[in-house]
Amino acid sequence: FRGFIGALIDIDDRKKAESALVQSEMLTRQLMEAQQRFLADASHELRTPLSSIQGNSELLMRYTHLPEDEKKEILTDIYRETARLGRLVSDLLQLARGDSGLGIRETEVPLHEVVLDVWRDLERMKPDHRFGLQQVDEITLMGDHDRLKQLALILLENAAKYTPKGGTIQMALMRAGEEAELCVSDTGVGISKEDLPRVFERFFRADAARSLGEDPGGTGLGLSIARWITEQHEGTITLESELGVGTTARVRLPIRALEA
Ligand code: ADP
Repeated sequence: FRGFIGALIDIDDRKKAESALVQSEMLTRQLMEAQQRFLADASHELRTPLSSIQGNSELLMRYTHLPEDEKKEILTDIYRETARLGRLVSDLLQLARGDSGLGIRETEVPLHEVVLDVWRDLERMKPDHRFGLQQVDEITLMGDHDRLKQLALILLENAAKYTPKGGTIQMALMRAGEEAELCVSDTGVGISKEDLPRVFERFFRADAARSLGEDPGGTGLGLSIARWITEQHEGTITLESELGVGTTARVRLPIRALEA
């Protein structure tokens, strides 16, 4: 009888091990597929500015007698695409670092100072927008200083990028119990209901943003990076938006004090 029970347990264990193996194989396959998709998307995104740079340089080399203003236009194009390429590479590196498991470096971070620094820089750089600073509570938490600064920068730059001149950008940092809440809102182009669930996907860029007179030259990676940073801090990030009205981004981060 004991032998029989023993055999049953054996079979049970083997079944569990087999199903764990199947599950881990499925996960590996899913991960590999996701990685391949990411690589394909990344190469496609890199190729677009590259071919524009290549085509335009060829034009300049072949037609040396073009009028000055045409030359200038081509050069401006080359410059803009080079800048875009630079942004793509640095965003991709950032994501790759995250994927490779290089986590965050925690220190005590005065969050209010970090967000106010970014806020003031943006205010200086965008004289044609209106800025409304709401409540800013003093909040110090454990986190990665540079990454949190980048998080604030992504949200504030998006607000400015997708809000036409004359529009308003607002920011608030509030303590809500054991959490810090950073809120950035704008009166910009907004995001449609169909696009909203996709904005955190890598390389996704919504239609409304593309329809802005001038292409703001986004990479579609900012919000993926913002979400990664938020999750590394065990927080949550959400976006609310209405097409043609504006967008509000909300980040909630647990306030963990320095451990004794
Ligand atoms: P990007 O580099 O294109 O800005 P993000 O990942 O930061 O990439 O954002 C993804 C897309 O979400 C943007 O291309 C834009 O369409 C939309 N989006 C993000 N923030 C805003 C905002 N504040 N207002 C309107 N659309 C936004």
